[in-house]
Amino acid sequence: MSTGKAGTTHVVIVGGGFAGLKCAMELAAHSEIAITLIDRNNYQQFQPLLYQVAGGILSPDNAAFALRDVLRNRQNVDVRMDEVVAVDLAKRTVRTAEGAAVSGDYLVLATGSRVNFYGIPGADRHTFPLYSLTDAERLRSAILHAFEEADRDPASAAEGLLNFVVVGGGPTGVEMAGTLSDILKRALLKEFRHVAALRPQVYLIEAAPELLGAFSPESRRYAASALKDHDVSVLNGVAVKEITADAVLLADGSRIATRTVIWAAGLKAVEIPTQPELPQIPSARLEVEQDLTIRGFDQVYALGDLANAMDQDGKPLPQLAAVAQQAGKSCAGNIIASIKGEPLKPFVYSDRGILAMIGRNSAIAELGKSHHEIVGPVAFVTWLGVHTALLTDVRAKVEAVVEWAWAYFGSEHAGQLIDR
Ligand SMILES: Cc1cc2nc3c(=O)[nH]c(=O)nc-3n(C[C@H](O)[C@H](O)[C@H](O)COP(=O)(O)OP(=O)(O)OC[C@H]3O[C@@H](n4cnc5c(N)ncnc54)[C@H](O)[C@@H]3O)c2cc1C
Repeated sequence: MSTGKAGTTHVVIVGGGFAGLKCAMELAAHSEIAITLIDRNNYQQFQPLLYQVAGGILSPDNAAFALRDVLRNRQNVDVRMDEVVAVDLAKRTVRTAEGAAVSGDYLVLATGSRVNFYGIPGADRHTFPLYSLTDAERLRSAILHAFEEADRDPASAAEGLLNFVVVGGGPTGVEMAGTLSDILKRALLKEFRHVAALRPQVYLIEAAPELLGAFSPESRRYAASALKDHDVSVLNGVAVKEITADAVLLADGSRIATRTVIWAAGLKAVEIPTQPELPQIPSARLEVEQDLTIRGFDQVYALGDLANAMDQDGKPLPQLAAVAQQAGKSCAGNIIASIKGEPLKPFVYSDRGILAMIGRNSAIAELGKSHHEIVGPVAFVTWLGVHTALLTDVRAKVEAVVEWAWAYFGSEHAGQLIDR
């Protein structure tokens, strides 16, 4: 099935995340192009806010945006909720779980990442990953369940019931650990009055000698001290060996009793079988040309977390929302150039820096290509500004996020509905 009308160019985009949605919105300005945007969800999830959803300080509908709503005024974009299960690169045709075949003149693959457990025994069964809205809601309910159970009968609470272990000391792990500790100490302890003696504790475990490997030594030092201030117990330089239903076992022989382990230790690209098969790299990202096309298939593009795109020095670009959004824009520009018979441009990422929010009032920001460091409340406000800018395609929600940020500065309330 192809939904492109006669005289129009049909572009099929798989994945309505940061990359795919940006590409669709840019192409939508050209009425001679018909776009089919396929996503297994009918919403885009805003991953940078999943911690707040997991912690119950932001409601799920403020961290996800209905694709049909965002694209309501774009008459040439057709949204289709379906899962793509196979891709024929030569025919630019995707097969879906519902049995449809959708073909385009151009095909854009932007399916993002999923969790990677690296084969650690028990990690797939006994941890909570944090990549989707569903993951965040499950985690929120697990945290609240643990508090409800402890509050009912603190004297016979299971060992480690209120220990929360975050595995992985990259930005996701650091942000989750800091936010979670704030929520436990500032909000939940006040509302669950019988559990204080059980001393809820957040642990953060990182196999490398230091947290936040991509940041500068100064930022890393600040992060370590901010986590201490936020009462997170950090264990560096020790690998997780196994995860069981009631503990994390470490390579040095030690054990942390816990029922709630949050997996923030790694990602791999979402793999969809392609015909012909494409060479695999360990993270499952697809190799792309500088213009983001897949080698040998000049009307097929791969973008965002799925693509192993390189910077000008030949180093792989990081899996970040800003990279994905800019790639979406660049891809749309190249499709338009290709339709007009003009040469394609290489994708050049404009690096505005990297950020991590460590908890209330604490953040690190390394700004611009030179990664100029800022820490503390100013970096927190910068974090907010940068993430609000990422939301400009879905303006209606910006207000909710800003409201959350102000509440986060002053409020001591966490949402407490167990819905999963
Ligand atoms: C917890 C967390 C926090 C983060 N915080 C930040 C941050 O603060 N700043 C930052 O820059 N980056 C952050 N990131 C990284 C950022 O979210 C990703 O780099 C970005 O989402 C990648 O965009 P994408 O379009 O490639 O993929 P995604 O945004 O993940 O979109 C992929 C889309 O494809 C769809 N899809 C997948 N498979 C299929 C299929 N088979 N069929 C149909 N649809 C499919 C998915 O439903 C999804 O909508 C964070 C990531 C996580 C997990």
